[in-house]
Amino acid sequence: METILTIENLHKRYGRIQALRNISFEIQKGRVYGILGPNGSGKSTTLGIVLNVINRTSGIYSWFGGKMQTHEALKKVGAIIERPNFYPYMTAEENLKLVCKIKSIDYSKINEKLDLVGLTERKNSKFSTFSLGMKQRLAIASALLNDPEILILDEPTNGLDPQGIHQIRDIIKKIASQGTTILLASHLLDEVEKVCSHVVVLRKGEMLYSGSVDGMSANEGFFELQSEDNEALKSVLDDHPAVDRITEEDGKILVYLKSELSAAHLNQFLFSKNIALSHLVKRKNSLEAQFLELTKNASVQNN
Ligand code: ADP
Ligand code: MG
Repeated sequence: METILTIENLHKRYGRIQALRNISFEIQKGRVYGILGPNGSGKSTTLGIVLNVINRTSGIYSWFGGKMQTHEALKKVGAIIERPNFYPYMTAEENLKLVCKIKSIDYSKINEKLDLVGLTERKNSKFSTFSLGMKQRLAIASALLNDPEILILDEPTNGLDPQGIHQIRDIIKKIASQGTTILLASHLLDEVEKVCSHVVVLRKGEMLYSGSVDGMSANEGFFELQSEDNEALKSVLDDHPAVDRITEEDGKILVYLKSELSAAHLNQFLFSKNIALSHLVKRKNSLEAQFLELTKNASVQNN
């Protein structure tokens, strides 16, 4: 698996405000990641730091395995972290031509990207006539002109009507299906659930969870396990009545449960089968409750 971005122990202070505390996660190629958390939880700060527009207080991040300078690496990153802004009196196509000129990109990309975001029919309309959803879609087309490795979006559906939200989500899924890695920040649980495969949950600058979206919403919770022989571990667990399904991720075995099973019982069971674990974490059901708490806070702050 190819690592696009690594973040380790990132801290950010704005004067007395601790905006990020010890944030660490990795972005792997081809996946769709969400940073989920209520307003003020540090999502935009995280994106700003890795895009080199906000200075970190401490910690490290590296792009593409650290093989190149941040400045070079960022040429392979497409990002929309502010409200889309183009020349109002110019058409969609003219605006994209200008972007191509500035970034030395061939004009032939323009039609392809306008098509991807569903703006082909409106390419000769002035930007000033666009709805907010269309402006956002044009921004996505613009960020994709140079076929970046990863697309970064900060609250891509904020302020849009339900139809606009739906269109943006569909476009994000389409871009992902073509193999582009995506990192999006959102305060909406349902957005992350619908669009993302992986999620980092932030609250007040701290990381509550990092992992698959499936794992986050598993009803009976799930175990993260590792042993010398993961194959043997999997085959033994396959027959356990409390086990619903087993997946493997980054060398760890994730065991989703269909009925209650304590860490102690699981450990005892595996030991009786001659399997010693080097790693055992139970992710608790309360994560979903934490989620509801998060989104509740978010909606209050948005009103
Ligand atoms: P989010 O994007 O999740 O809403 P932010 O990253 O924008 O969160 O903000 C995280 C915290 O940092 C908040 O408490 C916010 O008020 C604070 N903050 C963000 N930008 C600044 C800034 N330029 N100066 C001071 N405090 C800031
Ligand atoms: Mg933000």
